[in-house]
Amino acid sequence: MVKDGKQHLASLKDKREIFLDGELVKNHTTHSAFKESVKSIASLYDFQANPKHQELMTFKSPTTGANVNRAWQLPKNLADLITRRRALEAWSELSCGFLGRSPDHVASALSGMYMGMDVFRQSDERGANALTDYFHYARDNDLYLTYVIINPQADKSKAAGDQAQNLIASIVDEDAYGITIHGAKMLGTGCTLANEVFISCIQPLRPGEENLAFSAAIPLATKGVKMLSRKSYELSSVSTFDNPLSSRFDENDAVLYFDQVKIPWDRVFIHKNVQMISSQWHATPAHVYQNYQCQIRFTVKMRFLLGVARRIAETNGIIDFPPVVEILGQMAAEVSMVEGLVEAMEVSGSQRGEYFIPNPTRLYAANVLTQQLYPKFLQSIRELSGGGLIMVPSSVNDFSNAEMANLISQTQTSPVTNSTGRVKLFKLAWDAIGSEFGSRHLQYEMFYSGSNMVSRGHSYRNYNWQRSLDIVDQFMAGYGLPEKKKNKILEPVID
Ligand SMILES: Cc1cc2nc3c(=O)[nH]c(=O)nc-3n(C[C@H](O)[C@H](O)[C@H](O)COP(=O)(O)OP(=O)(O)OC[C@H]3O[C@@H](n4cnc5c(N)ncnc54)[C@H](O)[C@@H]3O)c2cc1C
Repeated sequence: MVKDGKQHLASLKDKREIFLDGELVKNHTTHSAFKESVKSIASLYDFQANPKHQELMTFKSPTTGANVNRAWQLPKNLADLITRRRALEAWSELSCGFLGRSPDHVASALSGMYMGMDVFRQSDERGANALTDYFHYARDNDLYLTYVIINPQADKSKAAGDQAQNLIASIVDEDAYGITIHGAKMLGTGCTLANEVFISCIQPLRPGEENLAFSAAIPLATKGVKMLSRKSYELSSVSTFDNPLSSRFDENDAVLYFDQVKIPWDRVFIHKNVQMISSQWHATPAHVYQNYQCQIRFTVKMRFLLGVARRIAETNGIIDFPPVVEILGQMAAEVSMVEGLVEAMEVSGSQRGEYFIPNPTRLYAANVLTQQLYPKFLQSIRELSGGGLIMVPSSVNDFSNAEMANLISQTQTSPVTNSTGRVKLFKLAWDAIGSEFGSRHLQYEMFYSGSNMVSRGHSYRNYNWQRSLDIVDQFMAGYGLPEKKKNKILEPVID
């Protein structure tokens, strides 16, 4: 049976500890800070359970034969990869790309790890077996996982192992049951929406930092896991009309504090191994697959924002002005570049054993360029919009006051829509790019996979430099110093 929204909702009714505005949240699935985003996630599962979308969204688990989300599918060829991408794309369209850590994100990372299980096996048979079993368990229960793989910001001039005690989640004890971890990780997006959290580190560690070098997964309701939520944008969203995105897709971010949390061995995949901390992401296809998912989602978001930009131009009657056409043409080219990079990473992908992997060079190019592109793209929308983003009624309630409604209809006009249509569009645009939610999205797109400096490092390491160097070397081999001219022997001048 495919997991549907009702089943997902039921799976979230647990005793997880979320702290918000000075209080421990009682039931987050009904709390005004989270309930609409919880519903949005449920609607993703309803979409996949709809018989009309079953083929698009799901495949049969090789173990149980039940339908599960295609994010868990391990592509064996290009056709599989594209089939899987269509599912991810369809899911992303339901939030216009605004759910960054939808369930397919960490599922993609884990699928990548599974495809590189040989790397785990060479290092530690016990950890590899635990990860294999966990992958099957998560896939066959179609679990929603999130992850925390970054250490909390503190003093960046010091190495992770030199930070204050209790800051970074680390192994503080172990026994026959498993390990005990204590300390924090940032920045658990979707912890209010997911079932379980994968805890590890993606930042490089040094020998001597073994206590920080672990990978594990636990239910978010595990005793001792405390979620220190940032401000809820959903809570301050007045209405869907005023905040169509933040009222529904505020996926939340939280510092996760692990207070003496016990994790059984069958949930510990890497144990005190600094080398494997890096290899789990980069020697397996995990990092490629998780970021490939990001680029698929990003493409959807860019298409959406491009549509918003064009509607704004139409609504303000500027669509035929040559400078506006130029701006829109530039934006369309930028979206097309991202679409092209996703297609390129697919068609130039390669086999890794029985699995098909997107091309890392193209992937990291996309990572670098999209982090830079997003702020620029928002700037273009602002440029097209002018004061229209701000020239909107205070809230939807203004429409129910007769005098205000009359004034709104006189002052919010457009050649292509009525006053409600105009206000609705500009409220949507502001929510996407200018609201607190929109601003968080800007930060997200710039940092979700590390800073641009980190992405540029991946791009540097994954580029086929030899091809470039060969062209240079061959070209330079074609010429040299001019041949030495024979010295003219000067005849002595005899008078
Ligand atoms: C909205 C949002 C959601 C997130 N969700 C998740 C999540 O679900 N799970 C998760 O694990 N993480 C998540 N993250 C965390 C994210 O992965 C990190 O923010 C990211 O890896 C960057 O690390 P940092 O924040 O420590 O920034 P830094 O690495 O500190 O970068 C900030 C800036 O500091 C400077 N800098 C830092 N180090 C150096 C250096 N060595 N040399 C030169 N300059 C340097 C650069 O100017 C850089 O741009 C999220 C982040 C955001 C913003």
